[in-house]
Amino acid sequence: MSSLDLRQLHDTEFPIPDEMQGNLAITSLSKVYNWSRRSSVWPMLFGLACCAIEMIATAAARYDTARFGMEVMRASPRQSDLMIVSGTVTKKMVVPIVRLYNQMPEPKYVLAMGACASGGGPFKEGYNVVSGIDQYVPVDVYVPGCPPTPQALINGLIALQKKIDGQSLANMDDVPWYGVGPSDPVPIPILGPDIIDPRQMGLIRQQAMAAAAGQPYGLRELPTVPMKIVSKTASAAGMVEVDAISVVDEAAEADRKARRQDAVARKRAFLAKS
Ligand code: SF4
Repeated sequence: MSSLDLRQLHDTEFPIPDEMQGNLAITSLSKVYNWSRRSSVWPMLFGLACCAIEMIATAAARYDTARFGMEVMRASPRQSDLMIVSGTVTKKMVVPIVRLYNQMPEPKYVLAMGACASGGGPFKEGYNVVSGIDQYVPVDVYVPGCPPTPQALINGLIALQKKIDGQSLANMDDVPWYGVGPSDPVPIPILGPDIIDPRQMGLIRQQAMAAAAGQPYGLRELPTVPMKIVSKTASAAGMVEVDAISVVDEAAEADRKARRQDAVARKRAFLAKS
């Protein structure tokens, strides 16, 4: 509310005592809540490759993330608000990254720093690198570059602050985690010949048996199971071979959706009453 509005309030409905003149501010709960959150986003203390050096430089004296309230890098995911994925994400490393993400409490944010974390970078075609961390955990901000400079990372942190500023406690789409209990964990991939989603074991076995029996296998032959293809390559024979796929467990998805809708409805009813 502007100062003009405040004066009008003073003149009309809510007389302000003299001793409080100039010491009163009116704002919304979302504004205060978001201001406190955006000014104390604690990043997790971990780095993966060359980009991490730039992240360290960002936290040092020349750039100084203390002015954002972000200088306290936490060594525990339980105390972290922000995961900065800074560097090349190998298939071996994506498993602990997802586990750490699941251990962070809500509200939690992910920033993909650099070309590697955003899409595989110069190692995109490598046998051991994933094509972006956003295939495994939800990413809020992408910072391009190889490596991004500290200024670029700071720009990404400001973008995250703007995102937090734009969230409203009255809008469940903005803050789906607010007041509805713990969020569902992201499935932890299994480190195998290629990383796989544990929910697709049945399908993987089926495909492996087809391959062993010399039968066609691959995307064209897959049964009509709802699934999300995480990565795929084209074989010499023109058959698409699936490297990693995520099969949607329809019953579990429906149950999760129903529980979420119930929690959102209860939250909306509470907000309507208050
Ligand atoms: S984006 Fe470039 S600087 Fe960053 S981790 Fe990858 S190769 Fe290294």
